[in-house]
This record gives sequence, C-alpha cells and structure tokens, in this order.
Amino acid sequence: MMPFKDRQKLLDYVKNYAAKHPDIVKKCRENFTKAGKRWADGLMRKFKMTREQYIAKSALQDHKCAICGRTQEELNVRAKRLSVDHDRQCCSGEKSCGKCWRGLLCSYCNPAIGALGDDPERLKKAAEYIESWRKLNGS
Ligand SMILES: [Zn+2]
Ligand SMILES: [Zn+2]
Repeated sequence: MMPFKDRQKLLDYVKNYAAKHPDIVKKCRENFTKAGKRWADGLMRKFKMTREQYIAKSALQDHKCAICGRTQEELNVRAKRLSVDHDRQCCSGEKSCGKCWRGLLCSYCNPAIGALGDDPERLKKAAEYIESWRKLNGS
C-alpha cells in the first residue's frame, strides 16, 4: 500500500499530480459544488492540504484505505471520502501542520489507530492478543 519508499518522491508526486493530470483536476473543478468547496476548505484548515493534493493521494491509493484496502463505498459509510491520517507525535490534535500527513484511511481504521494511542507497540500487542486467543480457542 506504500508505493514510494522515499518520502521526498512521494511528496513530489503529490505536488506534481495536478500538473501531470490537468484533465482529472479540471473535471473535479467542474464538479465544484458548495459541499465540495466546504470540504476543500476544511481540508486546508485542518490538514493544510489542497484539493489537488488530496486527489493525488487518493488516486495513488486507488481510493482504498491504506490499512484495510477497502473503499468508503464498499464500507457503506456516510463519509464519501477517506480521511487524512497524520502523525499524532507531530500534531497531537485533530489538525496537521501539513508536514506530518500519512496515508488516507477509512472511517474504521482511522479512529481505530487513534483509539490505540497511535502507538505501534500497543497496536502490535493488540494483534498478538487477538492471535493468542484465537490459538487458545482453536479458531
Ligand atoms: Zn480501513
Ligand atoms: Zn504536524
């Protein structure tokens, strides 16, 4: 789910996406509704991310959650778009400084990692816990 190993390459891709795909970006601009504008304003306010950057990230992930690989459509959830995940070690609240974005996540995975404190150790322990009980219960 992480096509770029190099962070700079990933950022360049996101930045250059609009220039390389004017057709896609234009199409989105044409569909610029009031709700779409509100969403884009929120994206900028909360994550310092432009609409084009979001479109690039979403396309890069094939519009699938970076953890579970499902689309919002598949999950049949209210939000139409995946949420922008950010490193809470950098920005502890709901907002991002714009330098600590990670992937786009679905309506389940994003709050799930947040609930476990955004902590890889706890997330690993949770996985081990589930696996150990599966073994014990023979399922
Ligand atoms: Zn997910
Ligand atoms: Zn930050």
